[in-house]
Amino acid sequence: MENFDFYAPTKMLFGKGKATCLPEEMRPCGNRVLMVYGGGSIKKNGIYDTVCGILKENGFQFWELGGVTPNPKIETVRAGIAMAREHQADMILAVGGGSTVDCGKAIAAGYFYGGDAWDVVKDPSLITDALPIFTVLTMAATGSEMNPTAVITNQAVHEKQGVHSSHLYPRASVLDPTYLYTLPAVQTAAGVADIMSHIFEGYFKKTEDAYVQDKFSEGILKTCIKWGPVALTEPENYSARANIMWAASMALNGLCGCGKEGKWSCHAIQHQLGAYYDITHGVGLAVITPAWMRYILSESTVGKFVDYAINVWGFPRQPDEFALANMGIDATEQFFVDCGLPATLSELGIDDSLFEVMAKAAVPYAQLDTQAYVPLHEQDVVNIYRACL
Ligand code: NAP
Ligand code: FE
Repeated sequence: MENFDFYAPTKMLFGKGKATCLPEEMRPCGNRVLMVYGGGSIKKNGIYDTVCGILKENGFQFWELGGVTPNPKIETVRAGIAMAREHQADMILAVGGGSTVDCGKAIAAGYFYGGDAWDVVKDPSLITDALPIFTVLTMAATGSEMNPTAVITNQAVHEKQGVHSSHLYPRASVLDPTYLYTLPAVQTAAGVADIMSHIFEGYFKKTEDAYVQDKFSEGILKTCIKWGPVALTEPENYSARANIMWAASMALNGLCGCGKEGKWSCHAIQHQLGAYYDITHGVGLAVITPAWMRYILSESTVGKFVDYAINVWGFPRQPDEFALANMGIDATEQFFVDCGLPATLSELGIDDSLFEVMAKAAVPYAQLDTQAYVPLHEQDVVNIYRACL
């Protein structure tokens, strides 16, 4: 196991009705709140009224930045920073999914920086302070509610960039599983695919003796496989929503990925799709992941895929390791299809015209050629995109 720091300082307020606990957490930070939210789902399902009611009853002054889009854009971040400064906000409250939370984090980070917000996304060393961040989560996927990451898209330069800074941990996050009841099926499924991908990115790594992390990881994958389909067929099943919601936070709060060498692969390949085609993050991952798994399956990786097939999917051990590994990969692909997710880029209307351009950007983004579990060069990434057609 490699050396690591594990730091997960966010207070998690988990359960039905827990939004009422927010004021106690927010009060020490001041009274003036910039509330950030997305395209309006919270107004339809009543979460907006609940949160505004709680803020008002507790004497907070707040201003609203709505309209954060999926794959949040740098322009929205700039608008949020201007608003936060105009109203001298003491803190950010993001109410929504990962896009809203990420946008709120980038606003919090850009607030204290004199230059353009895109600078801090590109260079986290410029983040020397941030406004306190609170979140009310309405979508289970990214783990942003408990981690120090924000992913922002700059369409002008076709870049989707993740930024990590210890200043970006939310102070407290509300996770009320009932807030997930109104999620459209495709978002529920995309969220499950994203959670599983966060686990895969850590599970398939060169470090082989991080046993604790691997067992946590297999448990979270099994949780997604058990409860994801239930959440899809019974959107108001509390147990399903609660387990998926907690799985999302646990999948990307450092618990499963720590102590492992190397960088992520599928997210780097998917981020380019996000930058050029603005597709749903988890949907892109569901398409890419099985193709990536098949592409990197070899003598040196087959043992890990055998572990995966046996420990996660429950296939019995058999002498032909490659056959067993492929059973695990096929099961992964079939699971995403059964969740209603597309299996090909063609289904998303994406052809091969930008594969070379995207591959060229993906490799340096995550040093795929030197730091990935299995090193990938531009042609490898093109081949993976092609296998997804
Ligand atoms: P999202 O983009 O925040 O939301 C997706 C859609 O779901 C939106 O249209 C949203 O509508 C809707 N929605 C959310 N909650 C809802 C609810 N309770 N009921 C009905 N509709 C609801 O989805 P996400 O997957 O959480 O975030 C994806 C972004 O996070 C991507 O940009 C991805 O790259 C990034 N990401 C970040 C991290 C990280 O560590 N920070 C990790 C992985 C991915 P409204 O806009 O109307 O609310
Ligand atoms: Fe992700």
